[in-house]
Amino acid sequence: MPRRSTVLPSQGKGQTRQWKLTDFEIGKRLGKGKFGKVYCVREKSSGYVCALKVMSKQEIVSYHIEKQIIREIEIQANILHENCLALYGWFQDDQNVYLVVEYAAHGELYKTLTRLKRLADPLASYYIYQVARALKHLHSKHLIHRDLKPENILIHLDHRVKLADFGWSAYVGGDPAPNTGNRRTTMCGTLDYLPPEMVEARQHDQRVDVWALGVLLYELLVGHPPFEEKHAGDTYKRIARVDFSVPEWVDADARDLLAGLLRYDAERRTTLDDVVMHRWVLKNKLRWEKSWR
Ligand code: AMP
Repeated sequence: MPRRSTVLPSQGKGQTRQWKLTDFEIGKRLGKGKFGKVYCVREKSSGYVCALKVMSKQEIVSYHIEKQIIREIEIQANILHENCLALYGWFQDDQNVYLVVEYAAHGELYKTLTRLKRLADPLASYYIYQVARALKHLHSKHLIHRDLKPENILIHLDHRVKLADFGWSAYVGGDPAPNTGNRRTTMCGTLDYLPPEMVEARQHDQRVDVWALGVLLYELLVGHPPFEEKHAGDTYKRIARVDFSVPEWVDADARDLLAGLLRYDAERRTTLDDVVMHRWVLKNKLRWEKSWR
């Protein structure tokens, strides 16, 4: 499964707390993103282990992502939820911008999914439940994530979900970007996860995340996204027609949830409140505890 890129930027302003590089012991490199390297670090005075995202200023400028980075910092600094990756602070020197974020021991869900191909229902339901809770929190703050996908979901110990990558997030209402009332029109996110309203360049709201949760559920259970095609144009067409089929071995309750999330009409989509209380989630919940607590 190829790593999917996100179509770029946004805006904002913000700073949380002052640190400098020498305040940290630098450990192993956790990964390399499109715009920087991530290290496991220990804050010397507290001994606290966290992740340090190092982004070169030169690259930030050359990719014209200044606004996206600022927005990411601003939004992430305002989100406090156990299923959202915490931003502890940020600082800069002449060369780099550094984000001090929560450490997620198992890295991207994308990596786990690539290794396992697909997930069994108990684990898939536990991830979906936690992502739904993270999204509920964002939506309660009038935020839309807009780029949900396994690449942007980090996993910590005990399969705890940490939703990350807020570079595409946006406030519903009260935002300087193209916006009509509580609805936005900017096309963004990752192709396979785009909802019909974005593919058709119609206005959208928080329910784009609900659609993406449906795409995620499908990908976790089946091993590939529901509208996957070689050519982007074909994926667009299938999304607009909601043309997907669920393999017959998928649990009937999981199908019911998929059908509720992947609805063309955003108003008719299952709500996040209903996701966390859905039959498929509740019946699998009994198996969460035994497997990994
Ligand atoms: P990013 O630049 O945010 O896309 O991160 C690049 C890679 O670093 C990811 O693919 C992860 O494997 C790893 N990574 C990023 N943030 C963290 C984190 N907070 N904890 C653990 N690993 C991370």
